[in-house]
Amino acid sequence: MNLLIIGAPGAGKGTMSDILIKNFDLVHISTGDMLREAVKNGTPVGKIAQGYMNAGALVPDEVIHDIIVERFSKDDLDNGFLFDGYPRTKAQAEDLSLILKQLNKKIDAVINLDISDEDLVKRITGRRLCPACGEIYNIYYKKPSKEGICDKCGAELIQRKDDNLESLETRLSEYHKNTQPLIEYYEEMDLVKNTDASKGVDVVFEEIRSFLEGLC
Ligand code: ADP
Ligand code: ZN
Repeated sequence: MNLLIIGAPGAGKGTMSDILIKNFDLVHISTGDMLREAVKNGTPVGKIAQGYMNAGALVPDEVIHDIIVERFSKDDLDNGFLFDGYPRTKAQAEDLSLILKQLNKKIDAVINLDISDEDLVKRITGRRLCPACGEIYNIYYKKPSKEGICDKCGAELIQRKDDNLESLETRLSEYHKNTQPLIEYYEEMDLVKNTDASKGVDVVFEEIRSFLEGLC
């Protein structure tokens, strides 16, 4: 099964992706994670992406095209994948359709995590991450038992550079302008499962699970 997950920054794409890949045995491909890794390693892609990302702007489609094509050159995607944070523009979606066609693959469903902009501010500005194990916390909703320290592995939590109010505004407007129209694009292909992402993680997951099981 090949899935896409779409939602505004803070809608819970990362959290829901983690649960879905475990339950449905999918390979997780997050362009945001790939780009952050490239920035950390100072690769050519990372050098281009860094400024856009810190500002909350979209990285150019050509750069994204290259990292996606490279990702498909590994042969671990034949048993199902989940794209998280990609595609993010109409051009990327059309490009993905072409890439998949050449590989004889297709998208089976698009999960849309729907949430209001107001709900997102606390989620994003309160978000803290464990750089060692990837666990996600929130200082308002999901505090670690010891402030600033990961419950799972004891590492010191960090905040993403773009998780501030100013970058969030840009990310939200990019989302509404470029990414939200993709929902219609995929609705025309009858692939979209809409969910109310303001509900708890378990509720949202159950809804998605029963939808996906209906497809199998
Ligand atoms: P969020 O959805 O919370 O903003 P992501 O980790 O998906 O977080 O993305 C972080 C940043 O990485 C984006 O603001 C953007 O700069 C860049 N990025 C990630 N994926 C894409 C993409 N498919 N196209 C363009 N830019 C991207
Ligand atoms: Zn940890």
